[in-house]
Amino acid sequence: MAKVYNNDRGFLVIQMNGHEASNIGFGVPITGLLNQICCGTCNDSIEHKNIYYVAGINEVLCEECVDDFVSSMNHYLDNDSLRYEETHFNIIAQRLGMEERARRTHDGKIEIFKP
Ligand SMILES: [Zn+2]
Repeated sequence: MAKVYNNDRGFLVIQMNGHEASNIGFGVPITGLLNQICCGTCNDSIEHKNIYYVAGINEVLCEECVDDFVSSMNHYLDNDSLRYEETHFNIIAQRLGMEERARRTHDGKIEIFKP
C-alpha cells in the first residue's frame, strides 16, 4: 500500500508498488500485465519492485537510486521549488488514495499532514 517514504532530508517521497504505479499511469501499458516502469535514474525495470515517487523531480526511482538521491541531492528550498514539490506530491497522493497531503508551514518549510 502506498505510503510516505520518510527520509532525513525532508524530500517528499511516496513508496508504492507496481500495481499502484500502473493504476495511476506510470510507465508503458502492456496488455494483461503491469505497466513497464523504469527507474528514472538507472533505467532498471521496477514494476515488480518497490517504486519511489520523488515529488521534487516528478519521477519514479528504484530503492537504490532514491536513497542515493536523498543522500546526495540538494533540497532546493526556494518558493518555486517547494511549490512544485508540494503540488506534485499532492496530485500523486490523491490519485493513490492516500490520506497525507503536503503543505507549507508559516516559516516556509514543507510538512506532511492529514487533513
Ligand atoms: Zn534506479
